[in-house]
Amino acid sequence: MTALAFSTSTASTRRELLELLCSPEFERTLEQSRADHRADVRRWLKILGEKGYGALGFAKEYGGAGNQPAALATFETLAYHDISLCIKYGVQFGLFAGSIDNLGSPEQKAKYLRDAGHAHLPGCFAMTETGHGSNVAGLCVTATYDPDTDELIVNTPGRHAYKDYIGSAAEDAQMASVFAQLHVGDENHGVACVLVPIRDQDGNLLDGVHAEDDGAKAGLNGIDNGRLAFDNVRVPRTNLLSRFGDITEDGEYTSPIENPNKRFFTMLGTLVGGRVSVAAAALSAAKSALTIAVRYSDSRKQFGPPDGEEISLLDYLTHQRRLFPRIARTYALRAALDHLAYRFSTDDPEDHPARREVELLAAALKPQSTWHTLNTIQECREACGGQGYLTENRFADLRNDIDIFTTFEGDNTILLQLVGKERLKAFQQEVKAGGARALAAIAAEEVEQWIKRRNPIARRDESIYTDPDAMGEAFDYREARALLNLANGFNSDRRKKVPALESVISHQCDLVHYARAYAERLIFCTFRESLGDDPDEGLEKLLHLYALERLENDRGWWVEHLYFSTGVSAGLRSEVNRVCKSLRPHAVDLVNAWGIPDQLLMAPIATLPFARNERILGGSRGTSGEGVPACSKAKSTQTLPVA
Ligand SMILES: Cc1cc2nc3c(=O)[nH]c(=O)nc-3n(C[C@H](O)[C@H](O)[C@H](O)COP(=O)(O)OP(=O)(O)OC[C@H]3O[C@@H](n4cnc5c(N)ncnc54)[C@H](O)[C@@H]3O)c2cc1C
Repeated sequence: MTALAFSTSTASTRRELLELLCSPEFERTLEQSRADHRADVRRWLKILGEKGYGALGFAKEYGGAGNQPAALATFETLAYHDISLCIKYGVQFGLFAGSIDNLGSPEQKAKYLRDAGHAHLPGCFAMTETGHGSNVAGLCVTATYDPDTDELIVNTPGRHAYKDYIGSAAEDAQMASVFAQLHVGDENHGVACVLVPIRDQDGNLLDGVHAEDDGAKAGLNGIDNGRLAFDNVRVPRTNLLSRFGDITEDGEYTSPIENPNKRFFTMLGTLVGGRVSVAAAALSAAKSALTIAVRYSDSRKQFGPPDGEEISLLDYLTHQRRLFPRIARTYALRAALDHLAYRFSTDDPEDHPARREVELLAAALKPQSTWHTLNTIQECREACGGQGYLTENRFADLRNDIDIFTTFEGDNTILLQLVGKERLKAFQQEVKAGGARALAAIAAEEVEQWIKRRNPIARRDESIYTDPDAMGEAFDYREARALLNLANGFNSDRRKKVPALESVISHQCDLVHYARAYAERLIFCTFRESLGDDPDEGLEKLLHLYALERLENDRGWWVEHLYFSTGVSAGLRSEVNRVCKSLRPHAVDLVNAWGIPDQLLMAPIATLPFARNERILGGSRGTSGEGVPACSKAKSTQTLPVA
């Protein structure tokens, strides 16, 4: 199956879910109290659970459908509705039930997964602490084995170790997957996950469990995020999720992975599904924002020729420049994320190198998708002027909900550093495997040779404007060069005996730069590949626009590295303009192709063509509108200030 066929296979799940989300029971309002919002989200989650949407990804023997692609498609589609619901779904089914599925033994799955997957057992995923977020290895909550009672004692040593920001912890969760330092005998076996019941079925906190509400947040206020603390709470030994480490009846710790470091990263690696889902859901929000902005800009007219009719905002080049490259990037990211979802769903989980690659792809693409979306929503808001600022037109809602996507499921900057380090390691192995001398010995000339081997025909002239091969080579070159610079930098530090942490800190920005170069090359390649050998003309234009805009965005780098002349670099601007103009007639179709139903878009400026005018004229807002000419016929009384 190809990535394309894979994404098409989820079409029926998307279609049925969209129908459900457009039904009266999922009707939503943008202005409501936090309590009402939470109540709606709770009710919707129950419906999704009952209908089986939560268990789609789990094996049939545990009450699921064994359909991972459909589970991903569900999460992504929910982001067209209320993003609080999407994340609440992710917390219950992806994080809480997912922790049991990924970290539990077959017996533990048999015991809990059916209920968790149908929302009969509401749960939460308690990893982060106030004192430690990105640094998971530094968590301070402990789970200590007591051989006398054959129990684990879960304890929070202080305020800094409260589990914090935990979705569903403040009100709904009855059980928590608690990540804690596991102590057995005299030894700390590192971070492990323990199931801890926290509330009874009536919602009362159990003995020794303390919960607080995180209160109002910038967004996602339909979710009850909160803090949890445990005062020596006892749970049976068998509550330790035991796929990667168990305690025998004799009180011995055993693990199939001896190396604690490897065990830790293998455990975290199984949770990559959250990152894959979050990247895709963010892109749904970008699509919503672009659909609203493009449709409005097409119908909204401002200025025009003297005594002629006013023209659409979308006919202005600046507007095209603000919106069209973002449409192109959204399409390109879609292809890359489809590739990631395909790899995630079809690779053998026991094939460790393949799994590491999926983790790498997710770590590279999640920052690209979430930053792109946040930035796109803001640009769309501004592109709609005052209308964009009204709550009813959705941008505030979208922006506030998406904001935190850059932080949770792995902070973006941390993820990019991981990508850089991981790729550097692979590169070092590649050099060694190739029989080359140690990296330390690579001379500048060899570096050039190495790059040339990867870019046999480095096309650095105007062909870059129209030739996808030349575009691809440019992305290739930047990635290879950035990686080599990084390798040389670390090498030089090693020779000078710079302490490891100091060396990493001094190369952090290069790691991040490299990871972006890697991701942008990957996005270009997967988008190009997804178009096939005989691409549709419109989609090919989007591919060009993606590449040209990215090249233009970082043109200083290419000029600094003498890849382009300043003339070729300057020409990129006109090329982006040219492609933008050529896309103008297709812009509305390009966003409508995403197929977001009007009921979910909600924004009146996008769903009722010329609606603002009709509504004002119709007096629905209490204005008579008498004597106001229809917008489409309005004459321009003023030319553009610059005209
Ligand atoms: C709404 C919401 C919902 C959440 N839901 C859950 C949940 O259900 N369960 C759960 O376990 N957690 C949850 N989280 C927690 C979330 O995963 C963490 O916030 C995230 O991992 C970041 O941790 P932190 O907030 O401690 O930030 P920190 O790790 O303190 O990072 C703060 C900043 O410092 C930077 N930084 C950190 N370390 C370095 C470094 N070495 N080098 C350079 N820069 C660095 C980061 O890039 C970041 O910009 C949620 C958070 C929020 C806000």
